[in-house]
Amino acid sequence: MICSENLGDDIMAKKEFQSESKRLLDLMINSIYTNKDIFLRELISNASDALDKLYYRSLTDKKLKIKKDELGIFISFDKENRTLTITDNGCGMTKEELEENLGTIAKSGTLSFKENMTKDEKIDIIGQFGVGFYSAFMVSDKISVTSRSVDSEDSYLWESEGADGYTITKAKKAERGTEIVLHIKENSDEFEYDKYLEEYELKQLVKKYSDYISFPIKMECTHHELKDEEKHEYEDIKEVETLNSMVPIWKKPKSEVKDEDYENFYMDKFSDYDKPLKIIHSSVEGMTSYKSLLFIPSHAPYDYYTQEYEKGLALYSNGVLIMDKCGDLLPDYFSFVKGIVDSEDLSLNISRELLQESQSLKLIAKNIESKIRKELETMLKDDRDNYISFFKTFGVQLKYGVYNNFGQDKDKLKDLVMFYSAKHERLITISEYVEEMKEGQEAIYYASGASISKVGSLPQVEQVRDKDYDILYLTDYVDEFCITALQEYDGKKFANVSDGNLDLESEEEKEEIKKANEDHSDLLKEMKEEIGDEIKEVKFSNKLKTHPVCLTTKGDVSIEMQKVFDAMPNDMGIKAETTLEINEKHPISEKLKKLYKKDKEEFKKYTKILYSEARIIAGLPIENPTEISKLICEVLSK
Ligand code: ADP
Repeated sequence: MICSENLGDDIMAKKEFQSESKRLLDLMINSIYTNKDIFLRELISNASDALDKLYYRSLTDKKLKIKKDELGIFISFDKENRTLTITDNGCGMTKEELEENLGTIAKSGTLSFKENMTKDEKIDIIGQFGVGFYSAFMVSDKISVTSRSVDSEDSYLWESEGADGYTITKAKKAERGTEIVLHIKENSDEFEYDKYLEEYELKQLVKKYSDYISFPIKMECTHHELKDEEKHEYEDIKEVETLNSMVPIWKKPKSEVKDEDYENFYMDKFSDYDKPLKIIHSSVEGMTSYKSLLFIPSHAPYDYYTQEYEKGLALYSNGVLIMDKCGDLLPDYFSFVKGIVDSEDLSLNISRELLQESQSLKLIAKNIESKIRKELETMLKDDRDNYISFFKTFGVQLKYGVYNNFGQDKDKLKDLVMFYSAKHERLITISEYVEEMKEGQEAIYYASGASISKVGSLPQVEQVRDKDYDILYLTDYVDEFCITALQEYDGKKFANVSDGNLDLESEEEKEEIKKANEDHSDLLKEMKEEIGDEIKEVKFSNKLKTHPVCLTTKGDVSIEMQKVFDAMPNDMGIKAETTLEINEKHPISEKLKKLYKKDKEEFKKYTKILYSEARIIAGLPIENPTEISKLICEVLSK
């Protein structure tokens, strides 16, 4: 948001940060975020990205004559003036880019801050956004960025002292790239900022967080060298050292990488404040050779369920980044996986279109899919608690994968999905359900509704439970679509307890109820007419134990599926075929029979009330609540 006019190239009035950025900055400056150290890795990563961008461009743009070994990052500090400077000779930024990139956080504007966030939530926000560049405000009271873009002769200085705003003025910078000068805060009672002006400390930080960066990170370091052995005299020699080992972590043998290294790499590269739940590092030799380092996050990224989320793995060709997010490397059902793939078999200056067609890429994608799947299967077998934690976060995605694309991947995923078992009161796999099926049990029973407790109190559940059969409780909107796509498991069909044809009664019971329905066919027909076209049929049933009524369905569309369809923006009018079932053993049946003979008006009222009851139990709305409420009171007042 620009608050005053542009006064020309050289002088420019102070601009305000966009309002959301401003609040995030406030949080950052008055930060309670404990790990201030991360600011350095954020700035180094940005510099490395800028070098990557430039180098990659030089491969296709012949005018840019750039050698990889000229590229690097330089750190220097000045204790007296309290400055720490990070310089790179990467792609740099134009004036517009400075404005665009450093004037806004979360450009999409999806972030909405809650004023009354708790302390912990604030920490979360800072972490969740990675917030890159802005983290430098945790340790500085002023930041000056001078940048010259590879596309321009001009250079500009961006300066800010925090939430107040920033200025951009013309500058003089002889070489391409970006120089960031941090004016380090004075020590306070809580924190010693001085450490960011210490050679030893800075070296440690680079080693810890940025060792894998593929460009050299250099700093002028001091060595004490023995000058005179006899007199024990030392002299300080200054020498430029490369602080990082530069071997990308994924190229190192597994035995040389500590868990902590993987975790730091992940948190830095993918801007997560939490360690990953699972790390998968592999090196594949064969038709196509590649190295991959994959991570399953321990929580869903903040934008995971929004349209902005883009799946994909970073794709490198022999250590050089080709593409930040190569979507073709991951199926949608594993879209939560983060990581990198590095292959020598991919040509560097391959265009995106050609890349999609590349057989090597397809092969890598296939291997990666099966690697992730095997790892998840192993986790489920050997580390169930962790798997359940994973499944609670990303299970919906797997279930969606079962029915997506007309169920073409269902066999790959059917052993990874879990549902809540009524008997065990926890998540189980379908295979575990099938193993425990009783003698004579024909189907895998499931019931669906908005929550475990709501499903548990469905009238239809009783009959199945009475037989001591387990029931899978489905509470996610994708669940029934997933089950419908699976159709069966190990030759056993799935059956919805609300299906009209569950067929759990004995022959005798079936005969008995058939007779009751025939004897009272007029009564049932009249009830159906009173309710109208919303239902297909009204019948007496012996499947209910204590409950008076329920709705059952026929055909492929269940009531829960209908609710999902109803909620879609383009209502396709897909409706479940419902039957109102009345418990023949319940006193209400006798009452209905009596009223049918003696008092038709009252009979109609009962019909409407009972139908409404059945809808409420099924979690369906009542279209005419005032009328029903009136009817209930009329009946109660008799
Ligand atoms: P992120 O790195 O997560 O995109 P940052 O706030 O760290 O967010 O940086 C914002 C943007 O500023 C970067 O995406 C990049 O385009 C630009 N940028 C930051 N540092 C540099 C740099 N050293 N050289 C060139 N561009 C940079």
